Amino acid sequence: MHRARGLSRSSTKRETWCFLRAIATDAFRGIGLRRIGSRRSIVSSVDVYCHDEMRFLLALMILAVPEGCSPSGNLPPLRTSSQHFRYYARSESAVQGDIIERLERSRADVFAYLNLQSEAQINYYLFDDQEDLARNSECGSTQDCAVGHDIFSVSPLLEHELVHAYLADVGFPAAPLREGMAEALGCNRTNLSTAIENDWRRCVSEYPTSDVTIYASDQRFAKNLILQNSPGTVLRYYRISSDTRLPNLFAKEFMSFWGLSIDDVWAKALMTGVLEDGVSPICPCSIGALSPGMNDVVIPHVNAGDYRPIAVGPDSSALFRFAKSTDVLLQDCARETPAVPLLDPQAMKTSLILIQGLPTPHFLAFPSPGTEELSVDADPRLSADCGEAASLVISSDIGRLMVIAPPLGVGARQYLKLASATTRMIQRKDPAIAGIQGGLRACTDCTLSSCTGVTALQAPVPVSDGYVLELSAMPSPLASTLQAVSIEFL
Ligand SMILES: [Zn+2]
Repeated sequence: MHRARGLSRSSTKRETWCFLRAIATDAFRGIGLRRIGSRRSIVSSVDVYCHDEMRFLLALMILAVPEGCSPSGNLPPLRTSSQHFRYYARSESAVQGDIIERLERSRADVFAYLNLQSEAQINYYLFDDQEDLARNSECGSTQDCAVGHDIFSVSPLLEHELVHAYLADVGFPAAPLREGMAEALGCNRTNLSTAIENDWRRCVSEYPTSDVTIYASDQRFAKNLILQNSPGTVLRYYRISSDTRLPNLFAKEFMSFWGLSIDDVWAKALMTGVLEDGVSPICPCSIGALSPGMNDVVIPHVNAGDYRPIAVGPDSSALFRFAKSTDVLLQDCARETPAVPLLDPQAMKTSLILIQGLPTPHFLAFPSPGTEELSVDADPRLSADCGEAASLVISSDIGRLMVIAPPLGVGARQYLKLASATTRMIQRKDPAIAGIQGGLRACTDCTLSSCTGVTALQAPVPVSDGYVLELSAMPSPLASTLQAVSIEFL
């Protein structure tokens, strides 16, 4: 949710002043009275009659209204702060150890992706429970909300409300764009509902709402605008779009900005998303990429849900060496392909993940609380020429090898040599994602005269020093942007 400041609670005298101040501040900024439009029927008339002269008079009110219009409920006290955040919580123990670092990284990521400029500090109020939230926040209900740069939530880090706060200085557009953007960006969230609302008019006029089909449709609308255009263009639209609940006005503004009919764009947006179980938000994931040459990286995250971008492009590769096995997923930043589980959380040995030639930016997601310990190497790479294939040292502590690359064409082959002091048994352990598995053979050498197919149904296959792994395309009716083979060393 996103509430206009000053309108969400009953009108005490103090709040009335704060409300007026908020309007005046908006007018002064040139954002105008549109911002208060999310709730009352006066809004539409305000939308229409907000002339510049009126804005000027309202702006003068800033001088007359007292400062200090922060929320007036029994708010949690300040616990910690950083350059861009103040974090409030009922108890010290509710403040997670890495929360400020994660908030700053979330902000840096979104700001870099959208090219936002603002030094405004965000107040994050963490409440004990929904009753606490409803009684003491500005939300006026048990739903989390953002009011300008203030966030009121029962979750330690809620990306939806953070996006509202990041965009607070840009504008306050109509609900489909405002809520759509809040749902279209984020790295830790799971998919939204697959049920969608085909009638965009309902998404414009029904606000506030707790209908998930509206949020899911708003998300597809905003995500599609970003992916079909650019974040910068969508931000310009965000800036000029009115906070209206009038479908006709929304459609008119849409047409005048994009030169397209909202009917067409909405219908196309609802059809996008290849994930079977819904659509995930875009992860900006540009800050703090894991790159070759980074050794002994330790990423402690006490929270469920953390992530790091990886520096693997269309022409590069990286070998990730995980010292221990936890819950790690590989995802593309636009989240148009399914997340690939990389490790077996039960395994005790070191895992090697070779990722090569990613067509689009990807990131690693750590969905469970824990500590990741890894190193990243630039070599080796897969080679189409067996004679030139690089050697990968399989030491005794290696328990798993996974290779991820774009799908090979029919008949194409790629090779990787194994260097191992002992003979090891290997068994296929692919992620259970339809269409992503590639073909794999283990060959004694590059003559390729003695090869054994390695499939999930097969008994373990022995490999020893100098053996070659041969990857090929596996016929699949499902198109995929990645192909993976994964083996366990027994
Ligand atoms: Zn919202």
